[in-house]
Amino acid sequence: MTISSSSASMELRTTGQQLHRRSWAEPWKIKMVEPITLTTEKQRTAALSEAGYNTFLLRSEDVYIDLLTDSGTSAMSDWQWAGMMLGDEAYAGSKNFYHLEETVRRHYGYKHLIPVHQGRGAEHILSQIMIRPGDTVPGNMYFTTTRFHQEHAGGQFVDVVIEDGHDLASLHPFKGNVDLDKLEHVLKTAKRVPYISLAATVNMAGGQPVSMANVRSVREICARHGVPVMLDATRAVENAWFIKCREAGYADKSCAEILLEFCSYTDGCTMSGKKDPLVNIGGWLSLNDDTLAEEARNMVVVYEGLHTYGGMAGRDMEAMARGIEESVQDDHMRARIGQVEYLGGLLHSAGVPIVLPIGGHAVYLDARRFYPDMSQDDFPAQTLAAEIYLDSGVRAMERGIVSAGRDSKTGRHHYPKLELVRLTIPRRVYTQAHMDVVAESVEAVFLQPKKPCGLRMVYEPKYLRFFQARFERLGP
Ligand SMILES: *Cc1c(COP(=O)(O)O)cnc(C)c1O
Repeated sequence: MTISSSSASMELRTTGQQLHRRSWAEPWKIKMVEPITLTTEKQRTAALSEAGYNTFLLRSEDVYIDLLTDSGTSAMSDWQWAGMMLGDEAYAGSKNFYHLEETVRRHYGYKHLIPVHQGRGAEHILSQIMIRPGDTVPGNMYFTTTRFHQEHAGGQFVDVVIEDGHDLASLHPFKGNVDLDKLEHVLKTAKRVPYISLAATVNMAGGQPVSMANVRSVREICARHGVPVMLDATRAVENAWFIKCREAGYADKSCAEILLEFCSYTDGCTMSGKKDPLVNIGGWLSLNDDTLAEEARNMVVVYEGLHTYGGMAGRDMEAMARGIEESVQDDHMRARIGQVEYLGGLLHSAGVPIVLPIGGHAVYLDARRFYPDMSQDDFPAQTLAAEIYLDSGVRAMERGIVSAGRDSKTGRHHYPKLELVRLTIPRRVYTQAHMDVVAESVEAVFLQPKKPCGLRMVYEPKYLRFFQARFERLGP
């Protein structure tokens, strides 16, 4: 990696123009439309109050532009839909399985493919076959389901992401990188490390990428210690696009070539088909090791389904094989990341406080700077997500004190450093005009002369409270 931190921000802003002289415009046109509802302020006020000021509890029908998540919310192409009609629904040996296996081999490079119903199915199997009680699993920042399965198998997760990954102010172009010293330290001191869990891009850091130089070094260090590298490949194609745009020596390589090289430094992957691969449900586990793959196949039969369908219908495997093919196209990625950058750019130039650099799948708003006088106990990010919905019907997600939950021992809130609202962009679903509406609405909320007073939690579930907690408005 040759980009210094000081030149990083300029590099990022000019990326689009340097590489391509044209707009990020989508490489498709629209053939079928799904109507969405424009609600009135009165309707939104009622819907939000009924949902306890929690955007997770809103009915999708009451939402105008849904930026809750990019998971399983992609639009499929006509080629994918045509593939659905070619589903071979044989119990064993479906031809769609072999198509999927061949496609994953060609684009991700791994030898064995074990299909699963979605990403966490793969995480469950991988953790069960590789982790023993007392093991340490280093990773570049945790992800909720990934860490759960590692701990469930008796392992302990240790964060080895670089410090910049936790720093809102840092403009590092590869904030998802592994801190090689931290990794080396874990490998030297832990009793046993079954594998390193490497995510690209890093969701919890805001969709931040890992550089090729970094994964190569991780590979070298792990090889020296005889430890395999397992990739969370959920957004590895988006990661490849960032390498193309930001890392020296890759501008002339295709996304597909970069993806294949990246994966070649790893020994297997877990995959949520609901992200990069452009389907609404599906996933897989890939492994190069024959013995491990055999163990995984033994387990998949028990938890997911036979090793040639793993919880997916034949038509779903066909749609995913075709989705992978489309997802690695440079034109697709240029438009995908371009749209996220477009929204981030509008907000940034309007002076709205967002997390920089803009990540791969979402724009994050810094709620503390929307409401500088609000105490964290009054849930600033939850309040901001509610205010955005009230203003325009745009649905976002809280990533702050509500998501962080309570300390299981003391019962006190965790007080996270970051109090964020995530605007997550589904793939191929919304237009540039929709992004304009989102930016206008967020800007209007930012400039509101009369700030809200915050919220009071009136119902709190025991686990993962952000999904179902209910709130009431403080003040008038
Ligand atoms: C979504 C996600 C998963 C889990 O995949 P599911 O398909 O939701 O089970 C794992 N890792 C990352 C980084 C994800 O974003």
